[in-house]
Amino acid sequence: LKPFDRVLTTPLSAFATTLAIIRAGGSPVFVDVDAQGLVDLDVCRAFLEQNRDVRFFVPVHLFGRSLDLGKLADLKSDFSLKIVEDCAQSVLARFGGRLTGSVGQIATTSFYPTKNLGAFGDAGAVFTDDQDLQRRCVSLRNYGQSSRYVHDELGLNSRLDELHAAILVQALIPRLGHWTERRCEIAKRYLTEIKNPHLRIIPVPRESNPVWHLFPVLITADRRTAFRDQLESDGVQSAIHYPRLISDQEALVNGGQRFEVYRQLANARRLTLEEVSLPIHPQLSDTDVDRVIASASNWAPK
Ligand SMILES: *Cc1c(COP(=O)(O)O)cnc(C)c1O
Repeated sequence: LKPFDRVLTTPLSAFATTLAIIRAGGSPVFVDVDAQGLVDLDVCRAFLEQNRDVRFFVPVHLFGRSLDLGKLADLKSDFSLKIVEDCAQSVLARFGGRLTGSVGQIATTSFYPTKNLGAFGDAGAVFTDDQDLQRRCVSLRNYGQSSRYVHDELGLNSRLDELHAAILVQALIPRLGHWTERRCEIAKRYLTEIKNPHLRIIPVPRESNPVWHLFPVLITADRRTAFRDQLESDGVQSAIHYPRLISDQEALVNGGQRFEVYRQLANARRLTLEEVSLPIHPQLSDTDVDRVIASASNWAPK
């Protein structure tokens, strides 16, 4: 990546996704999302056909839902793309049996404590099956040292400390499968038991096996606050993912940062106004789940 090389990405994600592109010296190009809220790979293809020089892409498997990995792999080969898959929300998610993180040259994840696989503090990991990239990552995370006190390039201190690593390996990873199953069980109950004509649940494509990092529902913008207030008074926490597009953030708009918006971001913008995330995590009890279902089902506009 050379300074100001353009990098395709989504405007609907954690700000960190775009920050990584900018920190690497690239200029983000924001492409709209599809009906699920994931970056629209057909729009990406249209952009790439018109912009043959663009070779970088940072897609996000948002909400714990995998992008269509067949389509992603086709884009990669048709346009010789370098892809970094943001798997912070999608550890173990699959599409057509294939795991997220298996298409790009690199995949990343976050072990922030609220993620499906979190540590007890800030942490993260990079995945690759390319040995040269692997060696480079190992060097970069340790001040760019190729061997002790030998610095071939400017790196950073981005090591995962031993304590977090041990907790991850011994306590958390062994439970991840079980926790993911529990998330799926809760999602299944929400999908079948929440009955409310004012709420829309974003359908999951047949080949997609989400890991339900979040459980997003949609409600019209004018009703969202009242709905969330009702949940709150029933003791049910909710959140919005995300209330503002990355391309609308002050840091970009007035930050002198170079970026582009391709066509309209209508779907992404609609999600910022209509999305509500219901509680979903493996520690919810059946009674908690009952309460979420009752509260979400009983709400009606006044
Ligand atoms: C949480 C998250 C990040 C940032 O992770 P950090 O551990 O804070 O670097 C990036 N992308 C997505 C999609 C996330 O959900």
